[in-house]
Amino acid sequence: MALRLLRVAALLLFCCWGSGSAGGHTNWKKFLVQIEKALENYKPCVKENCSCHQKVREQDLAPFREGISKELLSEAISRKLGTHYQIIGKKLYREHDCMFPARCSGIEHFILEIIDHLPDMELMVNVRDYPQVPKWIKPLVPVFSFSKTSEYYDIMYPAWTFWEGGPAVWPIYPTGLGRWDIMRDDLQGSAEKWSWKKKIPTAYFRGSRTSPERDPLILLSRENPDLVDAEYTKNQAWKSERDTLGKPAAKEVPLVDHCKYKYLFNFRGVAASFRFKHLFLCGSLVFHVGEDWQEFFYPQLKPWIHYVPVKSDLSDVRELLQFVQENDGIAQEIAEKGRQFIVENLQMKDISCYWERLLTEYSKALTYKVKRKSNYSEISPKRLKTEL
Ligand code: UDP
Repeated sequence: MALRLLRVAALLLFCCWGSGSAGGHTNWKKFLVQIEKALENYKPCVKENCSCHQKVREQDLAPFREGISKELLSEAISRKLGTHYQIIGKKLYREHDCMFPARCSGIEHFILEIIDHLPDMELMVNVRDYPQVPKWIKPLVPVFSFSKTSEYYDIMYPAWTFWEGGPAVWPIYPTGLGRWDIMRDDLQGSAEKWSWKKKIPTAYFRGSRTSPERDPLILLSRENPDLVDAEYTKNQAWKSERDTLGKPAAKEVPLVDHCKYKYLFNFRGVAASFRFKHLFLCGSLVFHVGEDWQEFFYPQLKPWIHYVPVKSDLSDVRELLQFVQENDGIAQEIAEKGRQFIVENLQMKDISCYWERLLTEYSKALTYKVKRKSNYSEISPKRLKTEL
């Protein structure tokens, strides 16, 4: 960190001292100033008992500080804003139907892992992509969702896909993107193979058109393929070439192969995209477009410390790419800081810890004794294939 501050200070002095127009480098002053400010303000989180992400839990639970009554929870149930779970006597119960069984299963994996430490409670877990509790909703009901923007009061939980139930991408992830522990190892292996010096200095993106916010990068790639290699793949909703912006769909590329490239792009999809956390482990420089859509761990990742922030309309993307190409040392340091953060602070034990603290703190807001619904079945741990 100190090294980067020195490097940035030296560059600022070199490029921008005096008249403020010392050659082409003057353009970079605004980025160098942003980096310098980010470095000055950055306080790395202290990792104790998942305290790194504690602020997110506090913020999400703050609107429910006055207490969650039985009537309030019944309101969320009757509006079908999620799947209803009960935790009673160290056992997990669920209503019969789950809209996406693999997603429920991914969530249940984590709850069952910590069930012996949890007090009695009940909760509504939204397994759709989109959050359910806009700030204007009355009454304000507690619903857990994996992702939201500041326009929502949903309580964020670590997504199912850390274990299973992620998007099925044929043929690379036919059973769905999942098992973060396995992906972590695979990506770290690929990062070793594709060290910074070996990486292709091109911006890269493969993914489907889950949001048109991605279009400008695809169009830039068609115009300037040496600068950007970005193509749309199909997803399950694909009907025609209109869904891949008027061109045939590209072949799907597994995330480990994205590590070949120096600059990797993340965009929102329907909500936050699961790809974000993976990209860091490549040891490549992550370009994160827009900042509205969050998952529970995003707020600890800081622009210019861990990634390069890009405007939602991508109007600054050419300039940003030129800046990192001309300042390779800075680019490498940001990439390394991002990689390190995810390696250290987004381990499986951090996910379990977040779940445990979140549910424990949430349960304190319930103002009544939870009674088991007789028609709900107990959810038991699934045995892993490796255990059979
Ligand atoms: N994906 C991938 N390679 C591809 C296409 C998609 O690894 O060629 C991954 C991508 O990283 C993401 C998931 O598949 O984690 C779904 O990607 P998509 O772009 O379809 O949707 P998103 O979830 O990003 O909105």
